[in-house]
Amino acid sequence: MPVSSPSLFRRLTTAVTQWIDSDHCPEGAEKMRAESDRVDWVRVMPFVFLHLGCIGIIWVGASWFAVWAAVALYFIRMFAVTGIHHRYFSHKTYSTSRFGQFLLALWAGTTVQRGSLWWAYHHRHHHQHSDGPEDAHSPHVHGFLWSHIGWITSRNNFPTDYSKIKDLAKFPELVWLNRFDLVVPILYAFSMFGLGSALQHFAPGLGTNGWQMLVWGFFVSTTFLFHGTACINSMAHLMGKRRYKTDDDSRNSFILAIICLGEGWHNNHHRYQSATRNGFYWWEIDPTYYGLKLMSWTGFIWGLKPVPESVLEEGTRAEHAASVAAAQQAALVHPEYASTFRQMLPTAAALAVATVNAAHVTLPRKAENPAVHKDVTELAHEMQRNAPGIDATESAPVARPEAKPDSSA
Ligand SMILES: [Zn+2]
Ligand SMILES: [Zn+2]
Repeated sequence: MPVSSPSLFRRLTTAVTQWIDSDHCPEGAEKMRAESDRVDWVRVMPFVFLHLGCIGIIWVGASWFAVWAAVALYFIRMFAVTGIHHRYFSHKTYSTSRFGQFLLALWAGTTVQRGSLWWAYHHRHHHQHSDGPEDAHSPHVHGFLWSHIGWITSRNNFPTDYSKIKDLAKFPELVWLNRFDLVVPILYAFSMFGLGSALQHFAPGLGTNGWQMLVWGFFVSTTFLFHGTACINSMAHLMGKRRYKTDDDSRNSFILAIICLGEGWHNNHHRYQSATRNGFYWWEIDPTYYGLKLMSWTGFIWGLKPVPESVLEEGTRAEHAASVAAAQQAALVHPEYASTFRQMLPTAAALAVATVNAAHVTLPRKAENPAVHKDVTELAHEMQRNAPGIDATESAPVARPEAKPDSSA
């Protein structure tokens, strides 16, 4: 019998104890993290219970109040996932006081996605090893299902490596919330039950009660919240467009930006992680950023970090090169319109980019960077020259000799 392998009984008692004390690792957290991927069915029982609790709607029924409360609580807590777990604890894209940080951790605790320190440790690890063999949740390495839900049930991903998040681990109150990460979710669940019971008593016209609010406000809302968040791990590396050529497969998706309050601009975020906003341009909807901006006006948080101008310009150039390539592709698909497309579309695309530049107030002034404000034709030519594989003469009004435009006919 191998000495290093703990008995089944010990594994079971360890897993059950970890429900309450997630830092409980008798065999050592390092050893546990070094194990290969394997679902710990006992340890994940609370997570399974969360999903099973949704079935409770069969018995508690529904009321408009409970359903809309579940929707509202999804978004209020999605804001905590994106604005707190992610943009504060993982990336420190803004500042707050120590007490403010504690309140943020409490709010983030209601999301039932473990403690903020566990979240930040795993997320920083993801950025370090994105879509590589060590990435815990890459759909390209482990497949869709594992990246979406499997990795969170695996024994090796349960411990928090405090040595990798020393900037956060120095606060004992945060470590306590991380260690006993079921405390806030249990309080949240009780508060849902209490709210429903109070409404049943004081506002019976709403047609809700304690059990109904527990099922809709806690179980249903939290389960959707988990899967919405998990889409960033799975779908945001599969679905959408890649503006920046990052060395992972992160993508920008409008749909994911809506579901996850701005996190869908994941390729932007992988290109530059330190900015408070993930939607880099005004048309990339980022409700988390708007919320954080509002909070900064109250003085509760401050020091929101901007996207550097160089990164914005890089993105603008990449978008334009993509537009030109798309126009040329269109000309290939419909050769009968080739001449018109070649002459018109690159210019139209350049015009769109130039309009956007003009509308984007944070872009540099002409004196600081004349390149951004060149006239449309010049901009189009320059961007085509910079785009690999695209002939700079393609959009010129004079057709290339080998193109034999239909003007010769
Ligand atoms: Zn990612
Ligand atoms: Zn991140």
